[in-house]
Order: sequence, then structure tokens, then C-alpha cells
Amino acid sequence: MKKYRISFPHLGNYYVPIYQLLEQLIDKETTEILIPKKMSKETIDLGSRVSPDFICVPFKYNMGNYIESLESGANVLIQAGGGCRYGYYFELQEQILKDLGYSFLFITLLDPEGIRVKNVFQKFKSINPKLTFTHFVQSFLVAIEMIYALDDFETYVRENLVYEKVKGSFIKLHEAFLESLKKVKNKRELRACKKEYFKKLKEIPLDPSKKNLKIGIVGELYTSMEPFASLFLERELADMNCYVKRYTTVSYLLFEKGRNQAKLLKLAKPYVTYALGADGLESVAHTLELIEQGYDGIIHIKPFGCMPEINAMPILQKISLEKNIPIMYLTFDSQTSEVGIKTRLEAFYDMLDMKKKRRSV
Ligand code: SF4
Repeated sequence: MKKYRISFPHLGNYYVPIYQLLEQLIDKETTEILIPKKMSKETIDLGSRVSPDFICVPFKYNMGNYIESLESGANVLIQAGGGCRYGYYFELQEQILKDLGYSFLFITLLDPEGIRVKNVFQKFKSINPKLTFTHFVQSFLVAIEMIYALDDFETYVRENLVYEKVKGSFIKLHEAFLESLKKVKNKRELRACKKEYFKKLKEIPLDPSKKNLKIGIVGELYTSMEPFASLFLERELADMNCYVKRYTTVSYLLFEKGRNQAKLLKLAKPYVTYALGADGLESVAHTLELIEQGYDGIIHIKPFGCMPEINAMPILQKISLEKNIPIMYLTFDSQTSEVGIKTRLEAFYDMLDMKKKRRSV
């Protein structure tokens, strides 16, 4: 058995670039990577059992992922995240897991001040003394390019799923793309993979007449990016003939969010003067942008107990009244029922549809 067995929590399909990055950073003679088990009801149940009741759902999902990985033999866990109290979860998660009797090394990629490249390098070097700074930086650059490729691919799928002529063609290609990405070893292979799959993506036949409504999704980042945590909301909406737009992706959060603050505050005027924490400001600013762009309705999503999004909700309610735009609020937790969400989505759809028909007579 290898000395180090590294694992990390899930977030949508970002396990692919994370896996690829780790592959480059480890010493394969001493270390192996364990991709966490696929998200399931058991993941959230396991995590909820050991988490404080009123903590937000990402904490619980992460704990479920960690326990599943530890049970499969992981002994090094990686955590990265910040922007809200998530940045303080590291110590609590480590303490709970150690109290449960697990023995492991916990690596957080974030310092209180944010990501410090040199510190992250030192952390990986502690488990791979052969790692050089140049190789570390090159590997990170490939991982960033892969994250962009994944986000671009998934954004295209999300925004075109409703037009799909042959049901299942996007999902099939998406799965093939992920499999191909997993085999990529360097920048050249990544570019070839991108070229091949983006070409195939654009060749999928579309039927523009299938779209009925345009719906924007705003809200908390984890629920936005982890389809399991929102009970596959985007796919449900596409099945109901809705075009879906969502802003939050990892590339947005890592590389665009910071430099967008002034623009977002301008967009959110006069409703917001200061940032609300995490993506609260985005929720307001993007809602106003979606209204400008003529969307039929907006869905605000958040996990139970998410304070930044709770701050955004009264502002969104005011906007909804003043701009006459329907906004539905969905809160997700381990107890959220899929049937309950589906029923609310159908009711929201019917209401938007009636509103649209009334407008057109
Ligand atoms: S944004 Fe909200 S739900 Fe997400 S980690 Fe922060 S507090 Fe929790």
C-alpha cells in the first residue's frame, strides 16, 4: 500500500481537473489519489450525522465525502474554500473527523489571507519532496486551462440542452468529454481534446422551437455548481422546455469575481451599496441583469443556513415587487424532497407560462 492516499471533496465535475492536477504533483511511488465516491443520498446522510445541525449543507456534503474517502483508505484530505464561513470550516471538520477516530493529514490550500502560491507549493512538497516549483506552476496552469474548458463546455450544454433534438445527445457527449479529459497528460493533449469535443458539441442538432421560457438561476455557489445538491434543477428545467442561465462557475469565482466587484456594485444600485458576503451581491446584481435581458423568471437557490444568501433574499423580494418579476426561492438541505422541488418547479413554470401568454394576447 502506498504511504499517502489523497482524497478531496466533490464539487460538480471539477474532480476531473483536481485529479489531473494531483496526478502531476504527487510522487507516484509513494502516493495514490482516491477520487471520492459519487455523490449519493448516503453521502449527505453520513455528513449530516456528524455535523452540527444548523451548519450549512456544503459542510455536510464535504464531511460525507471525507468519511467515504477515509473509509476507502484515504489518509490525506484536501480542503479549499473561503469567501464566507466556509473558510473556517477546516479546523472544525478536522476536529470532528479526528474525534471520530480517523487518522489523517488535512491540507488546506487557503491561508486566512487567501491562496498563497508559495505556501500551497510547500504543502505539496511536504508529501512529494521531489516536486519542483517550476513543475508545480506548470501543472497549475494546465489545471486552470482545464477548468476553463470544462466551464465553457458545461455552459454551452446548459444553455442548449433545451434545444436538443435527440434526447440524451448532450449528456452522452458530456460523459465522453469527461472521460477524455481524465486521460489528458499535458497542455498539448488538453488542447487537442478541447478541439475535438467542442467541434462535436457544435455539431449536435438543435431545434430552436423547443424553448418556451427563459429562466435565470442565481444564488449560493455550492448549490449552483454541485448538481446533486440542487437535485439536478438545471436538467429538470431543460426538460420543461426552459432555457437556463447560471453565472457561477469555478473559473468565474477564481478569476473574474474579484475584478468584477465595482461592476457588480454598479449593477446592483440602488438596492445594494456594499458586498453582502459570498455571492449575495452577485445574486442581486445578476437578478437585475436578467430582468434587463428579458428573462421570464428567476430562481434563487441556497442551502439551508446560508447567511449571505439570506441577506440577499429581502432585497430580491423588493426587486420582485418593484420590477414585477417572479422569483422563486429554493432552499436545499439533507431533508429536501425531490418530489417537493419538482412540484414547486411545475407550479412556477405554469405561472410563468400563463403570465407570458397573457402578455402576448
Ligand atoms: S455561501 Fe452560504 S452555504 Fe455556501 S459555504 Fe458560505 S455560508 Fe455556507
